[in-house]
Amino acid sequence: MGDANGRTVGSGMRVLVAGGAGFIGSHLCERLLADGHEVIALDDFSTGSPANVAHLMRNSRFWLVEHDVALPFDYEVDRVYHLASPASPARWRGDPVRSTLTNVMGTLHALLCAERHGARLLLASSSDVYGDPEVDPQPESYLGRVDPVGVRACYDEGKRCAESLVMAFHRQGRASGRIARIFDTYGPRMAIDDGRAVSSFIAQALRGEELTVYGNGSQARSFCHVDDLVEGCLRLMEHPSEVGPVNLGNPVEVTVLELAQEIVRLTGSASRIAYRPLPEGDPMRRRPAIDLARRELGFEPRVPLRQGLYATIQSFRRALAGLDECARR
Ligand code: NAD
Repeated sequence: MGDANGRTVGSGMRVLVAGGAGFIGSHLCERLLADGHEVIALDDFSTGSPANVAHLMRNSRFWLVEHDVALPFDYEVDRVYHLASPASPARWRGDPVRSTLTNVMGTLHALLCAERHGARLLLASSSDVYGDPEVDPQPESYLGRVDPVGVRACYDEGKRCAESLVMAFHRQGRASGRIARIFDTYGPRMAIDDGRAVSSFIAQALRGEELTVYGNGSQARSFCHVDDLVEGCLRLMEHPSEVGPVNLGNPVEVTVLELAQEIVRLTGSASRIAYRPLPEGDPMRRRPAIDLARRELGFEPRVPLRQGLYATIQSFRRALAGLDECARR
């Protein structure tokens, strides 16, 4: 075993996961280790936590490094997964300048690191590059409807600029890039109370609080289980030629109200549903067209929503029990 800068002999590749202590990043690290790779997780713990990867710390092929991706970094790696960015509106709205810089400067530094070592880079972009879409579902060819000066711009435009940087490096032959446009993803280790529908509803239901539905709940959303998403990212990264952008998500739609009702049922909660005004710029519809991912990557979401929600609820029960214990001390 060496430190994060020293090569060790392993069966697989050496992989950098920026944002590795986050929700999706922690599952990706887990999977990469299971596949025999060495993994360096880089994170500033702003929205993630070392607790998300605590179970990986004993693995001699895993390193966790605290670092802000908006500042330069350098690791000798074969692959760079760039996931470092706040993902929920509650988080990226808090400091829009920082959110923009994390996406723009963070992507630049990730690309420079990839360039230096001839590594391939995958950017975790977002369905938010489509803004409030006029077409449904959204194919990769749809150019989006984003307000560059709106309150969501720090994230939406940050991701759009990050995508354009990846393409610029790729076209100039400086770093081989891959762009995954990720749609709503859920699963164990989502941050509790991050304001996203699945995590908020589960936490509220388990606490016996009212479930907050914005608008009348008729907004349609599609939710992809994190295991399916990670599989899609791995397939895109290792595809010999497909650069993307490629949509990764689950096209099965539910309304926000149906989701809330399902979570009340699955948790056995007595919680009621409370309706609040729709936040500014909240898209009415978000559904991925995944024909490209199906055709080029053989990607197919496998985890049904009910099954995925059930596992997520169990993880929230454990987390909330832990939090409650902390609160009592
Ligand atoms: P997350 O907040 O759990 O993970 C992001 C991680 O990046 C966190 O651990 C955070 O601490 C870290 N981070 C943030 N800013 C950083 C910085 N400046 N330097 C270093 N680390 C930093 O979010 P997630 O849901 O796991 O999302 C991962 C990626 O996927 C993000 O890029 C997000 O935009 C993208 N994405 C997620 C979803 C989703 O539904 N979860 C949807 C679309 C896109």
